[in-house]
Amino acid sequence: TLAQGLDRTKNQGFMARLNGLFGGQRTMDDSVLSELEEILFTADIGVRTADHLVEVARDKLKRAELKDPERIKGAIRDEVARMVDLPVPRSLEGGGPPHVVMVVGVNGAGKTTTIGKLAAQLTGQGKKVVLAAGDTFRAAATEQLDVWAERAGAQLVKGPDGGDPSAVIFEAVKKAKEEGADVIIADTAGRLHTKAPLMEELKKVKRVMDKALPGAPHEILLVLDSTNGQNAIQQAKQFHEAVGISSIALTKLDGTAKGGVIIGICDELKLPVVWVGVGEKIADLRRFEPREFVQALFD
Ligand code: GDP
Repeated sequence: TLAQGLDRTKNQGFMARLNGLFGGQRTMDDSVLSELEEILFTADIGVRTADHLVEVARDKLKRAELKDPERIKGAIRDEVARMVDLPVPRSLEGGGPPHVVMVVGVNGAGKTTTIGKLAAQLTGQGKKVVLAAGDTFRAAATEQLDVWAERAGAQLVKGPDGGDPSAVIFEAVKKAKEEGADVIIADTAGRLHTKAPLMEELKKVKRVMDKALPGAPHEILLVLDSTNGQNAIQQAKQFHEAVGISSIALTKLDGTAKGGVIIGICDELKLPVVWVGVGEKIADLRRFEPREFVQALFD
């Protein structure tokens, strides 16, 4: 479950410290406030969001709710609940058929794994799924995607190693359309600082998708590694500026205490986290539910 994925964040991360701060018998005063400040600013939720939450607490303190730590914790909880409760777009449906999902993210973030998990969910619902091997730059990427396609019961469309990613994706979209596929999930390159600029390539892929099927891509899913903490927020900003992100899959939540990054992404970027990766296996992908998230952290 999502709660299991948040285990470390709750028991080792900033939530453990927040609960320690508010759970004790201390009277709330300025020293508590400065401790709160320190906890939030090191919580991987991003500086702006941390600052805002500190303001919420400060405001409560001013209103003479000084002696009731529970109410301050409650105020922070409510504010976090508000921040993560963004309108969630429908994911993997709503456009097409075929519904075209373009998946972006830097190498190692968990793109291939997440594509495999998504494909498995869809084929499990009886849908016909095509995967497009758009990361032609890394030979191993296509091989890995092939393995996941097989596991998930999806079809893989690939091109020659080092070929033009846009050409592969154009072919894949065309083929998916001809064969009456329900969903096409396209992998893209995630290299940084090599050859042609990545963002230009992604813009081209996006244009080419629209040529192959007007209106595509229906969704651009950014895969982010939660263990990167605040750097993940920076990455999201860059990808969003370049191609416009519709939703986010946050991976490796099971291996980190930095689950607070979800709050920063939602608050700073107003981009909805739709999926969370909670393990390496094919079934380890959960839909993000704002209410469940807040309960798992605070209750
Ligand atoms: P890509 O380079 O973005 O395609 O990344 P991969 O999909 O190859 O994933 C990189 C590594 O992260 C692999 O070892 C995956 O097994 C691992 N991984 C991906 N998602 C998760 C997750 O949710 N939890 C854990 N623990 N590992 C993950």
